[in-house]
Amino acid sequence: MKIENEPGCHTAVEPGVITVPEAVTNILNNTHSIADFSKLHIRQCLYRVLFEDIKSPIDVPGHNNSAMDGYAILSDDIPVKDSKTFTVIGTAFAGQPFRGRCQANECVRIMTGAMVPDNTDTIVIQEDVQVHDESAIEIGPGHKKNQNLRYAGEDIKTGSTVLSKGSVIKSADLGVLASLGINEIKVVRKPRVSFFSTGDELKSIGQTLKKGEIYDSNRYSLYGLLSDCDVDIIDMGAVKDEPDTIRQTLLSAAACSDVILTSGGVSVGEADYIKGILQEIGSMDIWKIAMKPGRPLTFGQINNSMFFGLPGNPVAVMVTFYQFVKPALNKIKGMSFKPPLSLKAESLCSIRKNPGRREFQRAIASTDENGNLQVTLTGKQGSGILTSMSQANCFIVLTEDRGSVAQGDLVDIQFFEFY
Ligand code: AMP
Ligand code: MG
Repeated sequence: MKIENEPGCHTAVEPGVITVPEAVTNILNNTHSIADFSKLHIRQCLYRVLFEDIKSPIDVPGHNNSAMDGYAILSDDIPVKDSKTFTVIGTAFAGQPFRGRCQANECVRIMTGAMVPDNTDTIVIQEDVQVHDESAIEIGPGHKKNQNLRYAGEDIKTGSTVLSKGSVIKSADLGVLASLGINEIKVVRKPRVSFFSTGDELKSIGQTLKKGEIYDSNRYSLYGLLSDCDVDIIDMGAVKDEPDTIRQTLLSAAACSDVILTSGGVSVGEADYIKGILQEIGSMDIWKIAMKPGRPLTFGQINNSMFFGLPGNPVAVMVTFYQFVKPALNKIKGMSFKPPLSLKAESLCSIRKNPGRREFQRAIASTDENGNLQVTLTGKQGSGILTSMSQANCFIVLTEDRGSVAQGDLVDIQFFEFY
């Protein structure tokens, strides 16, 4: 018989180790939103975060108007049984209202978007009308009062909050702002994020590798991740494992950034200076997080800058960025926290896992011929295998208490790419 909570087997997390949600909560509790704003033309505000509530100065639409091309009539005039002939007394175009009034048995030719003439309240679409000549039409029974009308303020009422502080400006929002005649808005200043890699073995692209050296890839994947976050990026290069250089680089990063990211040098290897330096020039915690990949993470503060010491392994850098740095950047930008969207998909493969840690396996999600979501691993899952990220469009997230997955089981996935 199996004991459910056998230590070391089904115990979720070992002592001294925190879970991913605990780490996220700790980080967000220590993250402050930027209090500065820029006032910009709306075209420059796509994906920026609003610093103010936007209230509408006008009704949209501004007047009752026609939803169709047709004829405007008085509802009292709607034929009850037999067709009636109406005299066409004028035309209303969008932007060119008809200024007269209709009497009984009169109508106005009206185009989509045109103001509904003063005392009319019903639009009969042109397809339902028999045209005798330019000044006379025939309308049959079966029409309803107020049909095909769009009302003033039906979309947005004067004074109503259209967009709220903290929301991200999307394409539709640019259109909404323009529909209100607003050309400038206040958006949160972009966070400034500095980053550098650490490691004696690192060479930058363009240089020649000597034996034992590798190209610095983390700075490029981080550059891509940061570019997606709409922040100002300061690339401080690759830095050798020398305490003085690392200290200097951290201090110059702190002088110009809201957030500093490093990769590498946070595990317990001999060359892992970052934590010592951080203790000297700022404050920091090292967390062992119950996750795979990405177990060690350093989190702290240098003057007014937040510091994240990400792991060195290329996949771990990206996983920890998505899980920890991105939520913090969102909060710095003034957005409210939303956990990553999680969907259920059928696993097309079996996955070996021991309970204890939360695993982020790289996978490809797609839909089958019935539209059901399915997912399969990209292959080897080592934390140094960056091609597993490059082939993947999502993580399969296996929570702490979960064991192995059989083919056909449902698993949780988080998308990170949609291309
Ligand atoms: P570390 O955390 O510094 O011990 O690094 C862990 C592993 O990640 C080692 O194999 C490093 O060579 C590798 N690594 C560290 N930084 C980078 C980088 N910027 N680009 C590619 N690989 C790296
Ligand atoms: Mg290193």
